[in-house]
Amino acid sequence: MKKRKRRGKPNGRAPVGEGILLYHDMAVYENFERCTQRMFQVIKRAQEQFPGKPRHLLLRVQGHLNDEGGFDRDAWEVIKHFVGGFLMPYLTSASTPIAGLENRKGQRNDLPDLLNVIYPGDDDSFWYDVDQLPVRPREISSDVRKTPPTKEAIADYLGMSDDACCLVCWHRPAERAHVVPSSLGGSMDVRNFALLCAEHHREAPDIADAEGFWAWVDYAEMRDRGSKWEGASDKVRELAARLGERIGRVDRSEADFMEAVKFELIHLYGWEEADFTRFSWELYEEYHRVLDAATGKHFGVENKVATHAWAMDVALYRVEKDPETRLRRRAKVLLFDTLKEDSDRGPQTVRIRDALAERGNDSGRPQEA
Ligand SMILES: [Zn+2]
Repeated sequence: MKKRKRRGKPNGRAPVGEGILLYHDMAVYENFERCTQRMFQVIKRAQEQFPGKPRHLLLRVQGHLNDEGGFDRDAWEVIKHFVGGFLMPYLTSASTPIAGLENRKGQRNDLPDLLNVIYPGDDDSFWYDVDQLPVRPREISSDVRKTPPTKEAIADYLGMSDDACCLVCWHRPAERAHVVPSSLGGSMDVRNFALLCAEHHREAPDIADAEGFWAWVDYAEMRDRGSKWEGASDKVRELAARLGERIGRVDRSEADFMEAVKFELIHLYGWEEADFTRFSWELYEEYHRVLDAATGKHFGVENKVATHAWAMDVALYRVEKDPETRLRRRAKVLLFDTLKEDSDRGPQTVRIRDALAERGNDSGRPQEA
């Protein structure tokens, strides 16, 4: 238990001498795809702005623990295969929660333009099974506890040392939000909880897929992150703005329900205009089938935009019979901010996961420091 505070923190010596320090916090809501894409962009930007300067990466991981107290598959692949394998030649050193790494061959500066990761062809476990609509928690074997963990226990799991705050907007107080709702059989395991303010809790989807829930939190964080600076001083806000942060929040209060669902289908699920013209009786039926079988009700809030958008997206997969199209759509990684910037450059890069080196379900245990 004494070691717990160290968990998730980077290991290895602090770099000395000239160079640039690059930091990434793999948030609990980031999966492999979104995390690697962001880290890759950070390294690329560093090379563009400071060509050839030695790069030192510091990686911290929030949550993402498996049953044995090691890292779950996404975090393990990020640390071992992505940082340790793919990224290392383009760095001088890296500090990860498992080990400190040094590049003795010398840093390369010819980064590729795009990151394409290939999914193993015979492994469907990366995606939610839209045909069966199962409950898919992130934790494999859950805690058998009957009562929810305390807010402090969730904050501790998430590495929030002081006061628990909303993962999306950092506002306080934060509420305990089920990832998979209890009405669908979601467990009381600490990994089945997020901390959200009342407003984001009211908005968060009540769905059977934990990864779908976390993807929504990731999207909401990008969409609403500007509100993190609301309480900050002018000086801090100015600095944040200069670093490219959005200040203040996009007002969406005017959007009606269907408009809001459409916005989410485009920005979270990557729907294009053509998808909206595909409405058919079959799709409508599937939509209701998904709503009935794989979504829950929460505090009497039945019309949650996030729940309906997810159900509509799953329904579209269910009516899509062509496996190639299914795969292409699933492999799409959307980052709300980049999407806005790149909207006239056409659809986002399609990247496919894993097989950087080895693959599989191996998992890591953080080294005893
Ligand atoms: Zn919030």
